[in-house]
Amino acid sequence: MAEHLASIFGTEKDRVNCPFYFKIGACRHGDRCSRLHNRPTVSPTLLLSNMYQRPDMITPGVDAQGNPIDPRQIQEHFEEFYEDIFEELSKFGEIESLNVCDNLADHMIGNVYVQFREEDQAATALKALQGRYYSGRPIIVDFSPVTDFREATCRQFEEHNCNRGGYCNFMHVKLIGRDLKRRLYGSYLRRRRRSRSRSRSPSPRYRRHYHSDRRGGSVDYHSLPALSLSFTQTLA
Ligand SMILES: [Zn+2]
Ligand SMILES: [Zn+2]
Repeated sequence: MAEHLASIFGTEKDRVNCPFYFKIGACRHGDRCSRLHNRPTVSPTLLLSNMYQRPDMITPGVDAQGNPIDPRQIQEHFEEFYEDIFEELSKFGEIESLNVCDNLADHMIGNVYVQFREEDQAATALKALQGRYYSGRPIIVDFSPVTDFREATCRQFEEHNCNRGGYCNFMHVKLIGRDLKRRLYGSYLRRRRRSRSRSRSPSPRYRRHYHSDRRGGSVDYHSLPALSLSFTQTLA
């Protein structure tokens, strides 16, 4: 019996535990769900709910005034956000993965999932982020049950043919460009490779040098809503 229960835990057959909360860490019924949302008390993963404010929030590809936005600007806006939170979150520990949802439904829009290498790193981050603000909005942060992002992600979206669009209940993970990926995760990969080959050699700190040209280039930010890049402490 126990074995049977274990095998159906968090699946559609489980009438007690909500499979969406268990797998994706978010369920459209929220607190009114008829099945249990077992909030973990410890996890390597945190969910920062609705944190990314996309510039085309009302209609994808279109700004609040109804004018189309250049897709490159949308991507720039997103990558700037991604880099900003990556840097902030990596102060608490090594990031295994950082995923931002492209979904449009209220329970998933702008959701940020960060998985740390260690549970204590996530716990430290949780404590530090509670009560803080990002771009003028309070950060809503919680431990998340999601540890296997492959299970949580929509495969059809990855293959560019999800017919549920932004209202799909599986994660549609927004992708960052190859350059940014290499810049942010490259230090980890290099460090891991190095520690594998010469485990006793002292590893020089990865030094970032790209701050100065972060706003450079030819991108025009004027038509995008201002994105305040600094994490701000509560004044209370
Ligand atoms: Zn539920
Ligand atoms: Zn989908």
